[in-house]
Amino acid sequence: MKVSLASLLLAALTLAACDSKTATTGESATSKATVGAADSLVTDPALAKTSGTQATATDEANATPAPDPKTIPAGKATDAAGILARPQVPILCYHQIRDWTARDSKGAKDYIVPIAAFKAQMKMLADSGYHTVSPDQLYAYMTTGAKLPSKPIMLTFDDTDLDQFTVARPTLEQYGYKAMYFVMTVSLGRPHYMTKAMVKQLSDEGNVIGSHTWDHHNVKKYQGKDWETQIDKPTKTLEEITGKKINYFAYPFGLWNTQAFPELKKRGFVAAFSLAEKRDQQDPLFTIRRIIASGYWSPKTLRNNIVQSF
Ligand SMILES: [Zn+2]
Repeated sequence: MKVSLASLLLAALTLAACDSKTATTGESATSKATVGAADSLVTDPALAKTSGTQATATDEANATPAPDPKTIPAGKATDAAGILARPQVPILCYHQIRDWTARDSKGAKDYIVPIAAFKAQMKMLADSGYHTVSPDQLYAYMTTGAKLPSKPIMLTFDDTDLDQFTVARPTLEQYGYKAMYFVMTVSLGRPHYMTKAMVKQLSDEGNVIGSHTWDHHNVKKYQGKDWETQIDKPTKTLEEITGKKINYFAYPFGLWNTQAFPELKKRGFVAAFSLAEKRDQQDPLFTIRRIIASGYWSPKTLRNNIVQSF
């Protein structure tokens, strides 16, 4: 099937925009319609500052080193109820990091974080004492209660956008932060997207690469060869690029159904990430919640959403 990338991404943004209403409604959420309450990005003085506080490594020293998730025996892992009972680790989801243009729609701006806003958001995290954790650390915490650094947070970047390498990567480096990148392989090497070499570099530098399908089709609609096209082949491509096993998956648009869990498990995935909706009560590892850090959010709004949504 041939679909132009532009129409695909337009569809992705349109569909994704539909999710924005639920972007902050989590299990612990009450009434938080914060998406529409856009703080002024221009007048927020916090955005003018770029100098940051370096994240200290002291707390990280107390955390349990992350084991390979495959080395944790199934019998040792906590059951679903035990996992659901643990406090959730906040996980942020980013897409594009670039300044808005006149062509960007109101809805798309939830998915496009202006550069200064992104830098201010990262500075806020560092100033607030947040430490980034890897998906392996998260998995060990969820399944065995392994200790995490103080104020743990996970940063995730979806869809392979080039600015994740050119803008986000150096910003995260400034604070000693690592992230998870969910790559959609159809985009690799195309204009405005990362190349295979960039993905390898991110992996080599200690970030984790996850699978995000071939061309962003909705998992709920897979049939026949779709699992091969959307999951098997792209995951193999990512394993060839990184030289590492790909253990984690993110659902396009955050959309999942329970039929997807056994399909992902038999392909070797140990966990999968959705968006802000409630987790599956039987399989919380395959519906790990994330919130989209909106382009409209000031650092303060982001901090409030982190606290309220997780
Ligand atoms: Zn995506």
